[in-house]
Amino acid sequence: MKKLPDNLHLDTLAVHVAAAKSQFGENSEALFLTSGYVQPDAETAARRFAGDEEGYTYSRLGNPTVTSLELRLAALEGAEAAIATSTGMSAILLMCMGLLKSGDHVICSHSMFGSTIKLIGTEFAKFGVQCSFVSQTNVIEWKEAIRPNTRLLFAETPTNPLTDVCDIRALADIAHNAGALLAVDNCFCTPALQKPIQLGADLIVHSGTKHLDGQGRVMAGALCGTQKLMDEVLLPVMRSAGMTLSPFNAWVVLKGLETLGIRMEAQSERALQMARWLESQSQVARVYYPGLQSHAQHELAMAQQSGKGGAVLSFEVRAASPEEARRRAFHVLDSVNTMALCTNLGDVKSLVSHPASTSHGRLTEAQRKLAGIGQGLIRLSVGLEHVDDLKADLARCLASIS
Ligand SMILES: *Cc1c(COP(=O)(O)O)cnc(C)c1O
Repeated sequence: MKKLPDNLHLDTLAVHVAAAKSQFGENSEALFLTSGYVQPDAETAARRFAGDEEGYTYSRLGNPTVTSLELRLAALEGAEAAIATSTGMSAILLMCMGLLKSGDHVICSHSMFGSTIKLIGTEFAKFGVQCSFVSQTNVIEWKEAIRPNTRLLFAETPTNPLTDVCDIRALADIAHNAGALLAVDNCFCTPALQKPIQLGADLIVHSGTKHLDGQGRVMAGALCGTQKLMDEVLLPVMRSAGMTLSPFNAWVVLKGLETLGIRMEAQSERALQMARWLESQSQVARVYYPGLQSHAQHELAMAQQSGKGGAVLSFEVRAASPEEARRRAFHVLDSVNTMALCTNLGDVKSLVSHPASTSHGRLTEAQRKLAGIGQGLIRLSVGLEHVDDLKADLARCLASIS
């Protein structure tokens, strides 16, 4: 393959960066659906297993299709390297296994993805890892939570479902002054809108299941960071622990990345139109979307996210009590016909969900209240349908609330 010029834009990298082509010269990246690799001779096999020579040996340790995805995602994020994993959660598991040991301390926001809170706050607590949960938006709380044994700050921005935004650059400074690393879960924005490494983050976490695939087909995840961090800290864990991405899923996400830029742009534009429209509806009490002027961190979000709000918004159905709010939200969720009732996000199909009874259903009512997730809250992941059809659908659902 010809060498790509430097300084290419994301849209160009997204269709061209990949591992070397096979001897057949295929133009679309091949799917290498194989678990093992035939070794040319025993001496070569020995050198490859010893790490003295490059070459594939076994797909838990490496696969050309997975390599293509890793190279492409790293290029989009502006990172030196990436490791693909079987799911977003297994990427977080790998990061924690690689970076943390008993006695270490982590700081996370208490509005992180629910499974992340469980994994670090409950599962890793069993191995003696301490975790402080702080406010998503208050930088002072992050600073005050620093301890001598703080090893990692882990942020997610914007958050699910209320789209709270945190200041990546400020958190990177706090982490680095304390000798810790900053990891950012870039699931909601993707590199098409937000590049955490440029803002000072050390590691990026992805759920490839969401926008990177973009069509709701496969589970996948990834970590992006420096080559040194990958080679010395994360790859050795990956090889032993085996949270490997299947070549088939890697191929699907690799193809998904080719349309990432235009999807994120089109879905953000539709989401902004939906958010503005919802704000003007009498049956809607409040809309949460970083692209709206009414969003508490609107300016920070626009500076950090390439001027775009992303595809996900939430809105609260107006009601007099939590019971009425739940009934009304359920009415809307059961009445839509251009959107699917589905807790996934980042699909080209618009998806609606009720966080209080699904993704945040395991929280206590008090925890939900603290997180600001009411019974009338509906999350909407905006897809690629025509925005007039989505508006007409929701207008009909809202008008028929009794
Ligand atoms: C979905 C999600 C994850 C977990 O990813 P999986 O692929 O479902 O394991 C992590 N972080 C965020 C923000 C997510 O939305």
